[in-house]
Amino acid sequence: MKYTILDPHCHIIPHREPVWGWGPHFYAEELLETLDRGYDVMGEIKRVEKAIVMTGIGLTAVGHRTINESHEYALASVKKYSDRLYLNPIINPRLNLTDQLDTIREWKDEYNVVMLKLHPSMHNYFLPTYRPYPGEVSKKMIYPTFELCRELDVPMMIHMGEAPYSFPAQIAPIAQAFPDVPIICAHSGANNVPSNALDAILLATARDNVYLGTSWVQTPEITEMYYAVGPGKIIYESDCSPAALGQALRLVTNLHLPPPLGVGASKDEVYRMIGGNAAELCKIPL
Ligand SMILES: [Zn+2]
Repeated sequence: MKYTILDPHCHIIPHREPVWGWGPHFYAEELLETLDRGYDVMGEIKRVEKAIVMTGIGLTAVGHRTINESHEYALASVKKYSDRLYLNPIINPRLNLTDQLDTIREWKDEYNVVMLKLHPSMHNYFLPTYRPYPGEVSKKMIYPTFELCRELDVPMMIHMGEAPYSFPAQIAPIAQAFPDVPIICAHSGANNVPSNALDAILLATARDNVYLGTSWVQTPEITEMYYAVGPGKIIYESDCSPAALGQALRLVTNLHLPPPLGVGASKDEVYRMIGGNAAELCKIPL
């Protein structure tokens, strides 16, 4: 086990986020400074070596931007810092899907594409359902994105957290349809309602290909997660920005503490959660 930290969920943007409103900006250099700050990891001071970045989600929803336009800053940043930053392109399946998928295919090697991202809440759609409506329409939008994951051999990250489109259980049909595509359930659904993570845990116990992201998750739920699915399915992610990275990292590294403060997770288990799992899924050399 490499004792290296990887943050697979960061956002960079050179101006205010047009939908969520956070800002005034979070430049790639601000992210790198944040990664390089010393963090207490089980008593050692460590930096975060690598990050997977996304653009501001709002850029893919408002303003009629093409995928090249919404990702312009993220692309340039990944190119500039290609030894430390990797790209997770955001797909808006309500816009010209074929165009977006072709573009991502072209980006793959030049821009360190290691994962794809869906955000049902921001783009207003239901993931495929078991019932034919809205399932059949949704399959037409979503299956091609999973087929691209399969083709590029990368996992899919799906935002989860709020009604009506983003409850973790709604991932079940697509996870079943694409059992060979790993799915990271971002925030484990807990960014608005902490107990949504229980839904995500149930999903991860039922589906081998579902992994649980830790941003916005709280202590009782991450403890439950550890005992329910084990460290092999837990993926540290900060959602920085707007979330502060150190706090998100501490939530996971505190699992090392003996009960009742943590769960007594071993050093190897903690590093699996804060780097190893994501690096393996995304094939990032540590
Ligand atoms: Zn995010």
